[in-house]
Amino acid sequence: MSLPNFLVEYLKKQYSDENVEKILKGYTEKRKVTFRVNTLKSDVSKIEKILKENNIKYEKVKWSEEAFILNDAKEEDIKKLDIYKNGEIYLQSLSSMLPPIILNPKEGADLLDMAAAPGGKTTQMAALTNNKAHITACEMNNIRIEKLKYNVEKQGASCVYIMQKDSRQIDDFFSFDQILLDAPCSGSGTLNINSENLEKYFTEKLIEKSVKSQYTLLKKAIKILKKGQEMVYSTCSILFQENEEIISRVMKETNLEIIPITFQGIEELPTLPTSIKGCLCVCPNELYEGFFIAKIKKL
Ligand code: SAM
Repeated sequence: MSLPNFLVEYLKKQYSDENVEKILKGYTEKRKVTFRVNTLKSDVSKIEKILKENNIKYEKVKWSEEAFILNDAKEEDIKKLDIYKNGEIYLQSLSSMLPPIILNPKEGADLLDMAAAPGGKTTQMAALTNNKAHITACEMNNIRIEKLKYNVEKQGASCVYIMQKDSRQIDDFFSFDQILLDAPCSGSGTLNINSENLEKYFTEKLIEKSVKSQYTLLKKAIKILKKGQEMVYSTCSILFQENEEIISRVMKETNLEIIPITFQGIEELPTLPTSIKGCLCVCPNELYEGFFIAKIKKL
């Protein structure tokens, strides 16, 4: 198995030799199973007790009380447990838990999740606001929206209103206090060198297609974000084209400010340099998927 040449070239253009090596190593890792406790239905001490009773070894992270890393359990082991079956926990990658934490959704706020399915971050935002925000979760894909509905219901995220729509077409008449744009992307942060057909699905065309939709989605997000309010742009790609370049283009056309990302425990993350100061890029490794996150304020 090998990575497409064009990807290696892109990475070499963007990162130092040392960082390219780290990324390539990350692409060979089999990531540990991780989950988030759904505080709408359960609490951390109950989940710890159940893991101990089932002899499932775990570790915690510094940046979230609700995030769990399982040392050697497989997803199938977790799916057998009642806490999984009734939505007390949600299987979610660590990196994917970061954008909602960084957005810091507020109770009472009108919140938009522009690319919501299968709903990991939508339901996390519902939990972070104790179901007291008004969350509009937008998804355009017919099949994926069913997964979103299922997860919102299962997780008890009663403050979520699901809307099947292409977010690029949302009427400018609407306005939101906070927006999460977890944009469709090439997935260059989540690749595994052993996946079958990697060269078939990870193509330059996919990157081009993602870039087009990322730009239009971010333009729309900024348009319907209230002045003085903040949004988060995230992708599971570590490529400049899908991240900093999109943000820079939109920043040239609109009055925006990058809010530097900081939170307790951030020093624990494996990071990569970003060309826009204050953004966060997570390096893929045995715990984390590669991810990019920016917090943007509309001035
Ligand atoms: N935020 C999700 C989560 O945490 O579970 C993952 C989102 S995934 C990266 C991107 C999603 O955006 C896909 O489900 C895709 O179908 C959807 N999507 C892509 N383009 C869209 C658009 N223009 N409008 C609405 N949804 C879109």
